[in-house]
Amino acid sequence: MGAVQGFSAAHGEPASVDGVLEMIRATGGRATTSRRVLLEVLFEDQGHRNAEDLGSEVRARAPEVHISTVYRNLEELERMGVVTHTHLGHGAVTYQLASRSHPHLICAQCGVRIHAPDELFLGLTRAAQRSLGFQIDPSHLAISGLCSDCAPGRTADENS
Ligand SMILES: [Zn+2]
Ligand SMILES: [Zn+2]
Ligand SMILES: [Zn+2]
Repeated sequence: MGAVQGFSAAHGEPASVDGVLEMIRATGGRATTSRRVLLEVLFEDQGHRNAEDLGSEVRARAPEVHISTVYRNLEELERMGVVTHTHLGHGAVTYQLASRSHPHLICAQCGVRIHAPDELFLGLTRAAQRSLGFQIDPSHLAISGLCSDCAPGRTADENS
């Protein structure tokens, strides 16, 4: 992956398929069908999909697009800072538009997935920045633990 400094979202996160294609052209790339269809799929549905899911969706619309092209396009979009990947569990990474990436909590027992507000990580991100100069990205890895159903009424005493 290499040492990427900060987040490449500095490009200004285009808010539409055409906006991203324009950005691709501005950097010398071509607005190919495979790129357009992949972007349409990403913009239309906010669900968490891995590369294989996205490949099937692109090919359902444009069967002539080879699956390896979809994977390569995903890598390109990620390098450009348009797309990010997230590790939600033990399976394959999922991809989403960088502007829609968000933190998750996952229950280790029942597997329930909770969308966590960014504010939850404010104290942590500030402390890491201040004391270590480290910029935490809370959206990259889901945080594991026990949900309120799986850890009912558990107190600090019972845990020890
Ligand atoms: Zn990763
Ligand atoms: Zn649970
Ligand atoms: Zn989510």
